[in-house]
Amino acid sequence: MNNDRSRALYDRALSVLPGGVNSSVRATLPHPVFVDHGDGGHVIDADGNRYVDWVMGYGPLLYGHDVPEPVTAAIQSAAADGPMYGVPTEIEVEHAEFIARHVPSVEQVRFVNSGTEATVSAVRLARGHTGRDKIVVMQGGYHGAQESTLVEGEPGAQVPSTAGVPEEFAEHTLPVPFNDPDAAREVFDDHGDDIAAVLVEPILANSGIVMPVDGYHETLRELCDEHGSLLVFDEVITGFRVGGLGCAQGKLGVTPDLTTFGKIVGGGFPVGAIGGRADVMEGFTPAGDVFQAGTFSGHPVAMAAGKAYLEYAAEHDVYEHVNELGRRLREGITDICAEQAPTYTVVGTDSLFKTVFTREGPIGGDLETCCPAGCTQDPDCPRYDYCPKTGADVARAETDRWERVFRQEMTDQGILLTGNQFESQFVSYAHTEADVEETLEAYKHAL
Ligand SMILES: *Cc1c(COP(=O)(O)O)cnc(C)c1O
Repeated sequence: MNNDRSRALYDRALSVLPGGVNSSVRATLPHPVFVDHGDGGHVIDADGNRYVDWVMGYGPLLYGHDVPEPVTAAIQSAAADGPMYGVPTEIEVEHAEFIARHVPSVEQVRFVNSGTEATVSAVRLARGHTGRDKIVVMQGGYHGAQESTLVEGEPGAQVPSTAGVPEEFAEHTLPVPFNDPDAAREVFDDHGDDIAAVLVEPILANSGIVMPVDGYHETLRELCDEHGSLLVFDEVITGFRVGGLGCAQGKLGVTPDLTTFGKIVGGGFPVGAIGGRADVMEGFTPAGDVFQAGTFSGHPVAMAAGKAYLEYAAEHDVYEHVNELGRRLREGITDICAEQAPTYTVVGTDSLFKTVFTREGPIGGDLETCCPAGCTQDPDCPRYDYCPKTGADVARAETDRWERVFRQEMTDQGILLTGNQFESQFVSYAHTEADVEETLEAYKHAL
C-alpha cells in the first residue's frame, strides 16, 4: 500500500498544525491516513487507497459518507438561503420538537455547537439550578475537552488530567469508578449536600465500550433524588445510536434530569444540545439566570441536516440495519477470538463494536454460554468477572499492542479503525454484509 501523499501531507501539517492534527485522537501511528473523499461505508485516501471505514467521523455519520437524498436537499436548501442570521428560524423549533417528541426525558432543548459545549453548559446549568459546585464523574468517562471534567484520581485525591487546568477546578470534580454502586454511595455520604450533579455516559463509549451492570444507573438515579442532585446523561455518543431515536436512556429505562447530545444530532455538522425537564432547562438565560449563548448556536444549515437525518431514521429501517450488522461483527469477532485470542473481550451494543485486548479470561469455563454478540454484563456468563467494568479495566488491557500492531495491520489490509483501544467503532447505514465479511477476514489475519 502506497502512503506517499499521506506522509507528505502529514509532514506539511506538522509545520502549521500542532502535532499535525486538529483533534488529538487523529494523530494515529505511524502517520494519519489523510482522506480524500468518502464513498458509502468506505473512504479513499490521498494516495487512492480504499478502506472500509469504521471510524465514521467518531460517531456522527449514521449514514456513512453518502447522505440520503432528503438530507442533501435540506442542507442545500438551507445553505442556499444564506448561512446564518443570529435571529431565530423555524428549523430550530422543528428540530427541538423532534427531539422532545422522541427522547423520554426531554421537554426543552438548547442547541450549541459541539458535545464539549453541551457538557460545559449542562454542568453550569446544574450548578446554577442546585446552588452547589461539585460534580461526580466516572473514571475513564469522557465529556469533551473541558475544565470541569478533565480530572482523574479518587475523590479526595483528584487532580487535573491535563496541563493547563488549575488544581482548583479539580477540587470540585469527584471521579468514581463506573459500575461501582458502593463508591457512588460513599461519595454521596461524604459530599451529598455539595453535589450539583452526576455526569455519566450511560454506556462508557470512550473507554472501550463498557455496558452498565444491572441496576447501576438506578442507584445513581436514587442517590441523586435522595440528595437533591441532578442526574445528567452524556449521550453525545449514544444519542440517536444506542436505543434508536429514544437513545440509551430509553433502552435502559432510566430517566435523567438533563441529557447532553452531539455527534449524530447535527447530521454530520457541528451541533451539540442540552435537553431536559422544562423547570431545569428554564434556568438558562434569558428564561433563567444561568448565562448561556452562542453566535452559531442553532445554525440553520446544521439544524436542517440534523433534523432531516433523524426524520430519515424515523421513516426507514436504519437502526435495524446498523444494529444487525453490529451484531454480525461482534459475533464474528467473538468466534475469531475464541480460536485465536480467547482472553480478549468483544464489547459493544447496537451499532457500536470494539475488541478489548483483555489479558485474562475464564479458565476452563463453558465459553459456549458466553454472550455471542458482545459483553452484556450478564452475571451468569463465565466471562463476567473478566469483562471490563470500569475505565481502569480497559486501560489495563494490551492497549499498546492494539494501537502499535493490530490497528496498523488492519489499516494495511484496508480496514480503518479508530485510533486507539479506547475509542468505539461505528456501523453506518451505508455498510454492507460484504464490508462485514472483509473486515472479519482482516481480523482473522491481524488478531
Ligand atoms: C465526543 C464526546 C464528547 C465531546 O463532543 P465534541 O463534539 O467532540 O466536543 C462529549 N461526551 C461524549 C460522551 C463524547 O463521546
